[in-house]
Amino acid sequence: MRKPSLSPSKISIYLACPMKYRWTYLDPRGKLFIRSKPYYSFGSSLHVVLQRFHDEGDVGVSTVEEAVAKLEESWITAGYSSPEEAAEALAEGRELIAQYVEEYQARPATAKTLHVEKQFRDDLGEFILIGRIDRIDEHEDGTIEIVDYKSGREETSLEEIQNDLAMNCYQLLIRSKMPGKRVLSTIVALRTNQSVSFEPSTEDLNWFRQNLIQLGVEIIERDFDELRPSAKPICANCDFLPLCLRDESFASDLSELEKVEQS
Ligand code: SF4
Repeated sequence: MRKPSLSPSKISIYLACPMKYRWTYLDPRGKLFIRSKPYYSFGSSLHVVLQRFHDEGDVGVSTVEEAVAKLEESWITAGYSSPEEAAEALAEGRELIAQYVEEYQARPATAKTLHVEKQFRDDLGEFILIGRIDRIDEHEDGTIEIVDYKSGREETSLEEIQNDLAMNCYQLLIRSKMPGKRVLSTIVALRTNQSVSFEPSTEDLNWFRQNLIQLGVEIIERDFDELRPSAKPICANCDFLPLCLRDESFASDLSELEKVEQS
């Protein structure tokens, strides 16, 4: 039997709400309710441009003008409430990409890019951990840098990187693929181009790995057919609310929760 696989997105969705995990990945009825989100479209559009810009084997997007043209060509409009809203976001995306490319090219070149938008896998025993990494650079001293773009963010912090589930998963994946290398994690907040880097200790990563395996086993062994939805603040903005509302006790719990929140 094929080993199950888990990614940081899958695990994050499970942690937010196991029922949401069921609707997203296991129950085909869920797919009918998933709506496009403007922030995903915005992020995906920017990622396409940055992938081309940083791909060392691709010289098609290497200037500000080419990067902006690529953004316009690959612009995703799904999820925006009107053409005006999409146009406003595109204008913001153009500025952001231009600023990124200008600032990147003004920096001294001390690293080469090894991979862009590449998926890595590692067998953690009961399941395969998979993760798609935005960019991996190698510095002159051999240090590897994992770079993750946050398209909706104006700032990031050391604390955010330390606690970021995806960044810790990427560390595990890269350290297992490139043993003996120093590995840095960097988050780039694209709205301001601010970036912060961090190198977790081996002890911290071992602790994370043990907890991740425990959590992964819980997910793959859970009986999702028996699961009932439970009311929580995020339900109000969840795509699957119409599906969960079919459960009568959930509907009454949610209305009680709303009353408490309004009082
Ligand atoms: S509506 Fe609430 S319980 Fe249902 S999937 Fe969404 S977050 Fe989970």
